[in-house]
Amino acid sequence: MSIFLGIDIGTSGTKTIAIDVAGNILASATAEYPLSHPKPLWSEQDPEDWWQATIQTVRQVLSTPEVSADQVQAIGLSGQMHGSVFLDVNDKVIRPALLWNDQRTAAECDEIEQRAGGREKLIEMVANPALTGFTAPKILWLRNHEPENFERLRKVLLPKDEIRRRLTGEYATEVSDASGMLLLDVKNRQWSKPLLSALELDESLFGKVYESEEVTGTLKPEVADLLGLPASCKVVGGAGDCAAGAVGNGIVETGVVCTSLGTSGVFFFHSDTPEVDPQGRLHTFCHAVHGKWHMMGVNLAAGGSLQWFRNALCAHLKEVAAQEGKDPYELMIEEAKQAPAGSDGLLFLPYLAGERTPHADPMARGAFVGLTMSHSRGALTRSIMEGVTYALRDSLTIVEELGVEVSEIRATGGGARSPFWRQMQADILGHSVVPTTSEGGGAAYGVALLAAVGAGAYQDITEACRATIKTGPACTPNSEAKAYYDRAFPIYQSLYPALKQSYQEIGGLTE
Ligand code: ADP
Repeated sequence: MSIFLGIDIGTSGTKTIAIDVAGNILASATAEYPLSHPKPLWSEQDPEDWWQATIQTVRQVLSTPEVSADQVQAIGLSGQMHGSVFLDVNDKVIRPALLWNDQRTAAECDEIEQRAGGREKLIEMVANPALTGFTAPKILWLRNHEPENFERLRKVLLPKDEIRRRLTGEYATEVSDASGMLLLDVKNRQWSKPLLSALELDESLFGKVYESEEVTGTLKPEVADLLGLPASCKVVGGAGDCAAGAVGNGIVETGVVCTSLGTSGVFFFHSDTPEVDPQGRLHTFCHAVHGKWHMMGVNLAAGGSLQWFRNALCAHLKEVAAQEGKDPYELMIEEAKQAPAGSDGLLFLPYLAGERTPHADPMARGAFVGLTMSHSRGALTRSIMEGVTYALRDSLTIVEELGVEVSEIRATGGGARSPFWRQMQADILGHSVVPTTSEGGGAAYGVALLAAVGAGAYQDITEACRATIKTGPACTPNSEAKAYYDRAFPIYQSLYPALKQSYQEIGGLTE
């Protein structure tokens, strides 16, 4: 029996899983590590913690009776995107890695736009605008603020690619994760020479770029001994956690898109061509599917809005839920079901943490609009769920403007656990919505499948996903509810422009 490992270097911990060729999960292990915030806006981790967690979880998975180590043929790597591992000439880590959620680089983002010749030019070169979380501004921050460390810098690797280096000795990355560095010519799937030159960064700082299923090396003999794996075990490119999670849910062909209602909300779709939103509202990255791309819209407070409401205004439900052995969200949704579709004319704007798509505006805030004496708490809950789903529809609208035909929406993330919210997605988005029931679903599962492709078990990742990923029963739009939401959506869309100026002024009040 052939076995494949998927290792996901997450922010709170590392998860390793083992699957067989049919996609059954044979074993899974996680190990956590700390996140440090030495100053406001800073977010760092020690790459050594990732390595120790990798060793621990791989060994734990291999110790499971279902997994015989000598049958492990290949490993796929996934991880938190955008992080910067700075290495010196001896491959020593120069300073802790700056992570995706580190916000110290606003000045460097401006510098990048300026050196690139403006925001539009930058989007032309690397398909995306400069965001503080991306990797390129972190490198410039090192040069601007820690010149003695920059002097020693020989390589910059992404988190999972540092683990690859420790496993195989190779400096390599793959297209999906490299897209989030803001240094990849996403259309041509190679480092952007014009941008590197404008930023005065040498291409030798970066690893060789592979496609996600390509073999990037085999285990170093001493590492194979340390982990208890065969030295012939291959390591494939893998993917950044967004693309890897999409693969784990089968989002590998045109028309099948995915919504994720976690703390943040994501609308993710596959594209055969490198479409770029000239306004930069959607991210365009290389996909983990060979020669293909993906785009995504991001809402910063999706499930997070419902979580806020639970904590701020439904605290008593926690006690009731504990007594009845239920989840507080279930009780909240029972109340929401009592309100009609459209929550009796109540609209909610889910901009509790500012917004990314479609309004890149950190000053945006949440709002209930249309409150009357008759609104119950259930109506508030329902309008929050509707507002979050309208925000997903904003991304869908941009996607459709780009000419993409959507045939099916796969619902993922904590919010997709609720059949009521899945039906609401179908009614508001106007498409059939299905949950994935594959055991995996996550990023580690997606890269374990890529490992199976790299080892030759499948011809390509599309074939692997078709063979392994199963979906649950579909929710189809209810025509009455859909008709209502189609009328309400333009009103929802008109609210942000109406409030934009006030948001700025409110921000000024609380400075
Ligand atoms: P994270 O993004 O933090 O990994 P999850 O994907 O687990 O989180 O999603 C968490 C969110 O999912 C919560 O904030 C909540 O809005 C939503 N959620 C969790 N459980 C339920 C449920 N039973 N019904 C509806 N929504 C839920």
